[in-house]
Amino acid sequence: RAAAVQRLMKVFVTRRIPPEGLAALSRAGDVQQWDSDEPIPQSELLAGVAGKDGLLCLLSDRIDKEVLDAAGPSLKVISTLSVGYDHLAIEEIKKRGIRVGYTPDILTDATAELTVALLLATSRRLPESVEEVKNGGWTTWKPLWMCGYGLSNSTVGIIGLGRIGQAVAHRLKPFGVKKFLYAGRHPKPEAAMELKAEFVPLAKLAEESDFVIVTCSLIPDTQGMCNRDFFCKMKKTSVFINTSRGTVVNQKDLYEALVNGHIAAAGLDVTTPEPLPADNPLLSLKNCVILPHIGSATYATRNAMSVLAANNLLAGLKGESMPSELKL
Ligand code: NDP
Repeated sequence: RAAAVQRLMKVFVTRRIPPEGLAALSRAGDVQQWDSDEPIPQSELLAGVAGKDGLLCLLSDRIDKEVLDAAGPSLKVISTLSVGYDHLAIEEIKKRGIRVGYTPDILTDATAELTVALLLATSRRLPESVEEVKNGGWTTWKPLWMCGYGLSNSTVGIIGLGRIGQAVAHRLKPFGVKKFLYAGRHPKPEAAMELKAEFVPLAKLAEESDFVIVTCSLIPDTQGMCNRDFFCKMKKTSVFINTSRGTVVNQKDLYEALVNGHIAAAGLDVTTPEPLPADNPLLSLKNCVILPHIGSATYATRNAMSVLAANNLLAGLKGESMPSELKL
């Protein structure tokens, strides 16, 4: 009987995913997939979800009312291959009684590691330096050339001391950081204790940090939070890093701050939109390092994410408790 129930499950996968995940998923029965590395066109998505029981999607798929209507009442579970869920219309999903799976924890280490890499690349001007070696700009060892800012004895401010924020702080501590500050909705005494991190208002974090690192989730509260007002409060010698979501930052204001020298440099793994068009003004700046949203991109992490996303979907479809279910 279990086999018969499984055969009835129809699943749609919106992209080519690591084979480990697809193999796990194929146990669900009828798997239909947009088998490409490129995003699914909206018309294909609407047609693909119709009548499905489960949907495995990515952060680049906007799962809104239109998509949910196209899926119809059969849709019971949405599993996203991400920890962020700002691309899902949560209220609409809740109304329809659909369960949601996501991939927290398993991507924390990879994303924290990338955040540290981006911070060092930005503060020590690595892309600019590599470019100078290639274009003949490296003429001799110069005492005042390609200087940047170091972590030793610095104050680091973390916006959103969640899973990734804490993992970043623990990795930065051995670099000799003097003080950690953090901002958020609530103080987190347990997480903060080992780091001796101080819970402060956002304005104080901006004023006192030598490095500001954004690792919060994108919610209405955090949308556009890093704006002109925020950058003006930062020190002229401070470095800004964002590995959360692009829209937490007002990019026009960030551009102004970088051009006018209100801040020293910025490193972004996430932008608005994604991909960032090649003619975006931020890309013309030497003091802005932009990566193509690769926070969780290690082979092992992406494999693990695909398996967890598959297992979330399967468990949800069977009515069992999911390995990682989002509390709606
Ligand atoms: P968590 O839920 O553990 O952490 C999110 C944190 O955001 C919480 O600590 C929360 O604090 C904080 N937060 C909420 N509202 C605010 C606010 N108004 N001001 C400051 N902080 C706030 O999630 P993760 O650490 O696992 O992931 C964080 C985000 O990172 C994801 O939502 C995703 O968008 C992004 N991400 C990016 C990746 C990349 O490739 N670049 C990879 C993985 C994740 P509080 O409890 O006080 O509300």
